[in-house]
Amino acid sequence: MAHILIVEDEERIASFVAKGLRAEGHRTTVAADGTTGLDHALAGDVDLVVLDIGLPGIDGFELLDQLRSQGSRIPVIVLTARDSVTDTVSALEGGADDYMPKPFRFAELSARVRLRLRQAATRATASNGAAEPLVSGGVELDLRTRRATVSGREVELSAREFALAEIFLSNAGQVLSREQLLDHVWGLDFDPGSNVVDVYVGYLRRKLGARSITTVRGMGYRFER
Ligand code: CA
Repeated sequence: MAHILIVEDEERIASFVAKGLRAEGHRTTVAADGTTGLDHALAGDVDLVVLDIGLPGIDGFELLDQLRSQGSRIPVIVLTARDSVTDTVSALEGGADDYMPKPFRFAELSARVRLRLRQAATRATASNGAAEPLVSGGVELDLRTRRATVSGREVELSAREFALAEIFLSNAGQVLSREQLLDHVWGLDFDPGSNVVDVYVGYLRRKLGARSITTVRGMGYRFER
C-alpha cells in the first residue's frame, strides 16, 4: 500500500483515479491546484504523484521543476492530452518518470503506478539496505533522517548536497564521472556542459573536509574512504 498524491483540477478525473487507486488498497490525497499539490508532494510521506499539466496556481511543469530542484525523487506520472507530444517531451525532460495520455483506462494507469512504485522501492533498497547509515572517511549519512555528521559533528547539507554525498559514499574509493553524478543527482535538469557538479563538489569539500573528495583529472571525482 502506498500514499498517492493526485494533482488534478478536473474533479471527475481526480475522483475516478482516486477511487480506482483506493480500490487497490492505496491511500490517496487529491490536490486541485498546483501550489497545494507541491506542498503535499514536499511534505514527505507521499510515495508517488499523478500530475496533471494544466492546473490553476502553478502548472504541472512548474510543480515538477520545483519538486526536482528541491531534491525530491518521488516518482511522478504526468497526465497529458493525447495530442500534446511537445508537452510530454517537456515533462519527461523536466523530471517526470512516465506519462499517461488522456483519455486513459484505469488499468493502464494502474499498471504504470505499480511499475513506478516497484522501481522506487528497488532504488530505496539499493541505496538504503536495512536503513543502515552510510559511513565512510569519517562522514556518516543517515538516509532516513537525511542528517549528516563529520567526525560526529552534525553538518547542514541541502537536498542536492545530500544526494551528491549519498552517491559518493555509496561508491567510496571509486571514480565517478561528471556525467554519472549529473545523471544521478540532477537527472535531466541540467545539460552536460553545465559546471554544476564542480560547484557542488566545492560545497561538499567545504562541509565534509577539503581532502574528502579527490579530483581525478580528465575522469571525474573520487570520495576517499
Ligand atoms: Ca487540468
